[in-house]
Amino acid sequence: MSEKLKETGNSQAGNISRRDLLKGIAITAGVVAAGTVVGVNPIGAAHAAGNCPGTTPKAEVQYQPHPKGKEQCSVCANFIAPKCCKVVAGSVAPTGYCIAFTPMPA
Ligand code: SF4
Repeated sequence: MSEKLKETGNSQAGNISRRDLLKGIAITAGVVAAGTVVGVNPIGAAHAAGNCPGTTPKAEVQYQPHPKGKEQCSVCANFIAPKCCKVVAGSVAPTGYCIAFTPMPA
């Protein structure tokens, strides 16, 4: 590569500058991120199909369909409305509770 090419950042093949290359990478990353938000989110897609992502059996975490005081699924960080949990297998009730309860960050 000649000194002039090093200075400008241009390559001889196709005359693509580093700036153009970085723009292309940024655009690609933006499109991927937008696709995730718009509807290709794997957790959202699984939930829409009725398949919740949790895998731990309810008995293992002592799941119950009623709250324990003020602790319940609807205020747990693992809850995915309206009826899924990131931890527990199958559907859960918003009013349910288990020992994996994790308070939502304030
Ligand atoms: S309380 Fe248990 S079952 Fe309910 S969302 Fe939290 S981790 Fe899941």
